[in-house]
Amino acid sequence: MSAGPSLPMLRVVVPPDERPRADQAERKTDAGSPPQTEDGRLILTPELTEEIERSSALLELAEPQDILRWTTERFAPRFTMATAFGPEGMVLIHMLAEIAPQTPIFNLDTGYQFAETLELREEVKRRYGIAVELKQPETTVAEFEAQHGGPLYKTQPDQCCFDRKIKVLNKAVLGYHAWASAIRRDQSPDRAKAPIVGWDKKFGLVKVSPLANWTKKQVWGMITKYDIPYNPLHDQGYTSIGCWPCTRAVLAGEDERAGRWSGFAKTECGLHTQ
Ligand code: SF4
Repeated sequence: MSAGPSLPMLRVVVPPDERPRADQAERKTDAGSPPQTEDGRLILTPELTEEIERSSALLELAEPQDILRWTTERFAPRFTMATAFGPEGMVLIHMLAEIAPQTPIFNLDTGYQFAETLELREEVKRRYGIAVELKQPETTVAEFEAQHGGPLYKTQPDQCCFDRKIKVLNKAVLGYHAWASAIRRDQSPDRAKAPIVGWDKKFGLVKVSPLANWTKKQVWGMITKYDIPYNPLHDQGYTSIGCWPCTRAVLAGEDERAGRWSGFAKTECGLHTQ
């Protein structure tokens, strides 16, 4: 761990054997734990706001591994990560496999993911021994499309993402206090202001972005150096991979997220916008 400034530690007190289950809707407040709602979501107090801002400033120049170490020490076992198995997510999984392999990691399994993406989940299990949990919507794709008279992604992708991603994530993070995101600031204007540590008001979580300062080149440099598994679709021009109906390969010179929701003004599924 690189020498760094002493970091603020408002420790969450959790009984050691009480690992939160993502599907817990009801949770009693632990003695000594920070203010939280009945269903276990953190409440943003002035003290927490101050801690988040101070920690983010202190960690701004830290290595991603050090940011993950701090996050784990500060929030585990109430720290989780969602991944779509993109290159940045794979780098974080690789780091967590060394730093905190017990970290619960989940994937929003919309029912529309590429077979290659789901196979990568199996590869993560083989390589790291980490079983990424698939979190699914309440309806199957067939039921969902029947309810809406056909595929909603063709006409209302925002609603489709809300129903098959946001709602699922909202439930999956119950009981957790912090989550890791794999976003990079240089990916899009929306992501350019992402702090290292911030408050995710949409989900009531502290959001940590260890790779916010990294470039695409750094991510792929690490993948190559450590032979980290990645989605083979990246070798076919798919720079950013989500659900198959809303993802295409990009053309030379296009933005790396240009292949997502092509033809719509939409650029984000809503997970990383407030
Ligand atoms: S990315 Fe497309 S298919 Fe997937 S949830 Fe969003 S709109 Fe639906």
